[in-house]
Amino acid sequence: MSGVTAALPEMLGRLKLTAMRDRLDSLLDDAARREMTLPETLALLCEAEVAHREERRIQMGLGIAKFPFVRTLESFDFAAQRSLDPKQIRDLSACRWVANGDTLLIQGPPGVGKTHLSVAIGREAIRNGYSVLFTPAMALITALVKGQAEGRLEDKLIRSAKPKLLIIDELGYLPLEPQAAHLFFALVSRRYERGSMLVTSNRSIGEWGMILNDQVVATAILDRLLHHSHVVTIRGDSYRLREKRRSGLLKRSNEADPVVGTA
Ligand code: ADP
Ligand code: MG
Repeated sequence: MSGVTAALPEMLGRLKLTAMRDRLDSLLDDAARREMTLPETLALLCEAEVAHREERRIQMGLGIAKFPFVRTLESFDFAAQRSLDPKQIRDLSACRWVANGDTLLIQGPPGVGKTHLSVAIGREAIRNGYSVLFTPAMALITALVKGQAEGRLEDKLIRSAKPKLLIIDELGYLPLEPQAAHLFFALVSRRYERGSMLVTSNRSIGEWGMILNDQVVATAILDRLLHHSHVVTIRGDSYRLREKRRSGLLKRSNEADPVVGTA
C-alpha cells in the first residue's frame, strides 16, 4: 500500500467503521475481481458496514428481550397446528400492529405453541427495529407488587412501559390477588396507546374476570386491551404430548389406560 492507503485501516478505525476495516482487503479484492467502478466499490464497502451494524443491533435487542428460549417462525410446524392460519401469523410477524401500538392476545390450552409464537413474533419485532421485553406474567406481577411494597412502583411502571413491545407470557395460570390485579391494570393503563402488548393465556377472554378475581378490573383491562387488538386462538392437543405419543412414551388418550406424565 502507498502512503495514503497505509493509513486507511487506522482512519476507518477512528471513524468506527470496523467491519469495513476488518474486511478491507477481501472487499477490495472482490471489487477488483468484479471490475467495479468507484461508486460501486464504495457501495460494497458501505453495505458490509451496514449489514454488520444491523446484525449487532439485532443481537443486542435479542439479549435485552430476555426470551426464555430460541424459537422462530421457520421452526413452527403449521401442519401440526391446523387451528392456525399461517397467513395471519405471517401478517402479524410483519409487526404493523406493533407500529400502531395494538395488542395481540394468543390464547389456547397448554403446550400448543403460545410461547413459541410469542418468542418468534418478538424476534421479528426486533428485526423490524422495535425494542422488546419478554416477561412471564407471574414475574412481572411479583415485581410490581414488590415495587409497591418498597415504594418504587413508579420506577417499575416506567421500566415496563419502556419497550415498544412488552410480551406477557402465561397470564392466568393462577388467579391474581386483588392488589396484583389492580397493579396489572395500572401497567396496562400506562402502556395503553403508547406501546404494544402481546399477552398469552391459557384462559379465554370470557374467563378474565376469574383470572383477575374482579369483574370490574377485568372489564377495565379488557376495554383497553381489546380496543385495538388482534386475537389468535389455538386449539388442539399439546405439541409436547403429541411428540411423546409419537415416540411411544405415552399411549393415545383413546386407548385403555389414561394418559400419564406431564408436558
Ligand atoms: P404453550 O406456551 O402454548 O404452553 P409452548 O410454546 O411452550 O406451548 O410449546 C411447547 C413446546 O412445543 C415448545 O418447545 C414449542 O417450541 C413446541 N411446539 C409447540 N407447537 C409447535 C409447533 N406447531 N411446531 C413446532 N414446535 C411446537
Ligand atoms: Mg407457554
